[in-house]
Amino acid sequence: MPLTLPPPSPPAWPNDLLPLRKELIRQGFHVLLKTPPAAEMYGQFEPKLRTIWIAPVTVPLEIMRTTFLHEAIHAAQSCPHGRMTLLGFKANVLPVVEREINGILSTRYGHANRALEREAFLLQSQPNVVAVLIRALRTRCNLKTT
Ligand SMILES: [Zn+2]
Repeated sequence: MPLTLPPPSPPAWPNDLLPLRKELIRQGFHVLLKTPPAAEMYGQFEPKLRTIWIAPVTVPLEIMRTTFLHEAIHAAQSCPHGRMTLLGFKANVLPVVEREINGILSTRYGHANRALEREAFLLQSQPNVVAVLIRALRTRCNLKTT
């Protein structure tokens, strides 16, 4: 009897992120669980293509959630005109978190993106990030009238 393998099951999206993924798609974004064009990245957002890539390797690494949230924030920042601008999110941050963010930004990002990256790192760590992002997508992107 030939050995048959079950078809590979699609990686599961965390349940609480499904509404955000759905809203992104409704606003005309593509959300792909595929290796990003910049192959050394875990996640990438390309405003011109309105596309988010999440590397499949983030699933076993257990950073898929954070990666997706981070890129989804950049997608919201890219509305309405495809050029990334701040959402205007403000939060009180613990000094230790602030130091961590500054550390990441100083080693990995150029000046131009620093404010946008800072906002993404701040927002992705908020407990209500999904709700905040869905609201931001609806008010900023709002491609569809129905
Ligand atoms: Zn980023």
